[in-house]
Amino acid sequence: MTKYIFVTGGVTSSLGKGIISASLAKLLQERGLNVTIQKFDPYINIDPGTLNPYEHGECYVTDDGAETDLDLGHYERFLNKATSQANNVTTGKIYQTVIDKERAGDYLGKTVQVVPHITDEIKRRVKLLETQSDYDIIITEIGGTVGDIESLPYLEALRQLRHEVGKNKCLVIHLTLIPYLSAAGELKTKPTQHSVKELLNTGIQPDILVCRTEHKLTKELRSKLSLFCNVEKNSVIEAIDASTIYDVPLNMLKEQLDLIVLKKLKLGKGKEPELVAWKDFLGRLKNPTSEVKIGLIGKYNELQDAYKSIYEAFVHSGAANECKVKVIPIHSQALEDTEWESHIKNLDGILVAPGFGERGVKGKIKAIKYARVNKIPFFGICLGMQCAVVESFKNVVKLPGVNSSEVNPKTKNPVIDLMPDQLKVVAKGGTMRLGAYKCRLTKGSIAAKAYGRVEIFERHRHRYEFNNKYLKKLEKAGLKATGINPESGLVEVVEMEDHPFFLGVQYHPELKSTVENPHPLFSAFVKASIKYRRNNEKA
Ligand code: GLN
Repeated sequence: MTKYIFVTGGVTSSLGKGIISASLAKLLQERGLNVTIQKFDPYINIDPGTLNPYEHGECYVTDDGAETDLDLGHYERFLNKATSQANNVTTGKIYQTVIDKERAGDYLGKTVQVVPHITDEIKRRVKLLETQSDYDIIITEIGGTVGDIESLPYLEALRQLRHEVGKNKCLVIHLTLIPYLSAAGELKTKPTQHSVKELLNTGIQPDILVCRTEHKLTKELRSKLSLFCNVEKNSVIEAIDASTIYDVPLNMLKEQLDLIVLKKLKLGKGKEPELVAWKDFLGRLKNPTSEVKIGLIGKYNELQDAYKSIYEAFVHSGAANECKVKVIPIHSQALEDTEWESHIKNLDGILVAPGFGERGVKGKIKAIKYARVNKIPFFGICLGMQCAVVESFKNVVKLPGVNSSEVNPKTKNPVIDLMPDQLKVVAKGGTMRLGAYKCRLTKGSIAAKAYGRVEIFERHRHRYEFNNKYLKKLEKAGLKATGINPESGLVEVVEMEDHPFFLGVQYHPELKSTVENPHPLFSAFVKASIKYRRNNEKA
């Protein structure tokens, strides 16, 4: 008997539908319900894997190898539960399924149309998650803003689904903005009234309004919104700007969003959410006993969302260490100029970010050399690990013409090379090595010590890999392969012995860090950075 909650957005984008959905899901989970969240994205790309990070932020990868919207990262970080392919649907996927069916003859004799074929496929996708688990509640976040042309089929599907299953089984939460006009000193409800009207045009009356605001909503204002938007007074919820996204579940608890939802869905209250681990995390996050500065060397730094999961993993691991981690974004291209050192001195740790293509690689290699020589804690992720291998072969082994063949396809010594099964791949969408793979760690290595075990599963997204022809020379480069895929023999982890903390991983640990389970490698890296800083202060 799964019930459905849809979350729509009004007035503007970027109001935080993902955070509100994840916060509500967290509270319902704490009350003992089995909840999942999915995201519907109204663009025609099959997935965001082919989108520029500047356009869409980070591409989040699931265990089962889906390239998805970064909101899925929030769902996992809040619920501490893995998502899957089925948790992210795009208009591209919907149309592809319908067009494939048309070609297969499934609709023979019929004109294939947005209504009912596309809307039926949308409804099927909502329910697809029910085949995975006995969910009590599925929360579906509809991307975009009400009024967008692209969202219309989704809203029509939602209207139909609600009609079919009945009101007690399907709720609509509309997240909207109450702007504050400083000249008038007032919060304004009109844009919300208009966006609810727009929703009503599609035949949908929202049950709950969640209002993003910079200032507290007065009783009068709540009454006004209730009256003009046809929403019960207690269903006008204030979502005041928070200092951290991790405060939002507690704010929603105060506003009783979870209780209102359960009442409307005619579900029991369950147990009172205690959020013990969550509050413990917030306590440590807000009361740090130390501070470190970590340089994030990347090339998409203009947009924080491009490295979303890395930033969040530092929030989790910082709290675990009771340490305020100040992440300093450093553009790798800025390290290519003569003033480069000024950008990276005074750091307590250096993280070289994942990435694609040649641009910015030189700067990344410079930063790695700096970390190696000055014994600053270093953490390389994916391209960051590959650059660390190139740096050592180039500057320690002094092998001529060494490079990654991604940077120079004609390089004499491709220490990082295309994986054999990538050689024939031409199409760009969904063709990388994606998803979770097993990796076996060397006992006693930095990685094994951090994880506290030797068998791990981590998520991947890449085409290039360490070239095993150079495995024997790796030690000459001062590096050790301490993590290997047991099936393919691919090197997944490299470490430097003669260094306080120098670790490169081919996978993306940041994707598995959650509030309740901060990633052990991030925690170990922060710990090493705290130690580095303390030693420096003493010196
Ligand atoms: N561009 C590199 C590869 O494809 C690294 C990818 C990444 O950093 N995610 O192997």
